[in-house]
Amino acid sequence: MAQRDYYEILGVAQDASDEEIKKAYRRLAMKYHPDRNPDEEDAEERFKEAKEAYEVLSDSEQRAAYDRFGHAGVAGGMGGGAGAEGFGGFGGFSDIFSDIFGDIFGGGQGGRRAHRGADLRYTMDLSLEEAAQGTTVTIRIPSRVACGTCSGSGAAPGTSKRRCDTCNGMGQVRMQQGFFSVTQPCPDCGGEGEKIEQPCTDCRGTGTQREEKSLEVNVPAGVDSGDRIRLAGEGEPGDRGGARGDLFVEVRLKPHPIFERDDDDLRCEVPISVTQAALGDQVTVPTLAGEAKMKIPAGTQSGKTFRLRGKGIKGVRSAKPGDLLCTVRVETPVNLSERQKELLRELDAETDKDESTYPQSKSWWGKVRDFLDRLAT
Ligand SMILES: [Zn+2]
Ligand SMILES: [Zn+2]
Repeated sequence: MAQRDYYEILGVAQDASDEEIKKAYRRLAMKYHPDRNPDEEDAEERFKEAKEAYEVLSDSEQRAAYDRFGHAGVAGGMGGGAGAEGFGGFGGFSDIFSDIFGDIFGGGQGGRRAHRGADLRYTMDLSLEEAAQGTTVTIRIPSRVACGTCSGSGAAPGTSKRRCDTCNGMGQVRMQQGFFSVTQPCPDCGGEGEKIEQPCTDCRGTGTQREEKSLEVNVPAGVDSGDRIRLAGEGEPGDRGGARGDLFVEVRLKPHPIFERDDDDLRCEVPISVTQAALGDQVTVPTLAGEAKMKIPAGTQSGKTFRLRGKGIKGVRSAKPGDLLCTVRVETPVNLSERQKELLRELDAETDKDESTYPQSKSWWGKVRDFLDRLAT
């Protein structure tokens, strides 16, 4: 993968001051922070890119090496390239280097640099009730653990590692190429200084095995979709003593049959009858804690929303719970008997069709008439 220029990534000039570099990085980090762009993979890439550029350019030694030799002059790199470290200032000759050693190093085997393990992401589906109250969930995640057969050494039981003869246990060798003298990780032992005589057959000498591990995740009350719970050190193990990555558990709420969550508020619809709407009533509505009474005033229109304070959810970062917003829907009665129809007709005949009784219709018909009048002229 071609790497972009670090100055270009940060959008600063080659002679930018440390302060300017810091500023540029802060701006990009704010913009592309994964927590702010949870659904954008591109943003995460950008964030990492900016972080990497900043790490190099904010370090005067690394920056000098980068200015002279480009990406080959600094360690690491996004693709975890064939560990430029160990060659120090020699990185500028990476072309020569890969010509000479390309075959020895093979497919991007790292140098001696310790790599932090990768972060893992896990999506956790929760019911609305679980999210509101908090819960403990046991999850199973794939993990690399020390091989039980060889206790993580990679050497077959009964055998051991022995000192590497090629580098005399130093892990590094010096190579003479023309007038260049290069120190580089020992190609024989991969820079470890010791070699496995007989690899453990269960882990093929890697010292680790894949396994599912169970983890208890404490979910705090009030979490919402998109919230992440960080479990430090529960990601992939690092290489060569590097720290373990983290595990990010991302919360996703399952749809609820009654409630819809809107930050700390809950929304629901409540069907009421024409009579309840017209005469007023007290109705029972559901809340997460059970039931609550809600007063419907006489003359309530369909679609009117009533607020029950404090009956929502207390978010993780909120001081007090949100509200329950109940929207009433006036339901038209169906399958009426002859007697019921007659009563309705009687009601209709008794009712004035003016705005004192039907305020919405009156103003609506008023607008329609205005509209039609304008069309005619
Ligand atoms: Zn060696
Ligand atoms: Zn093993």
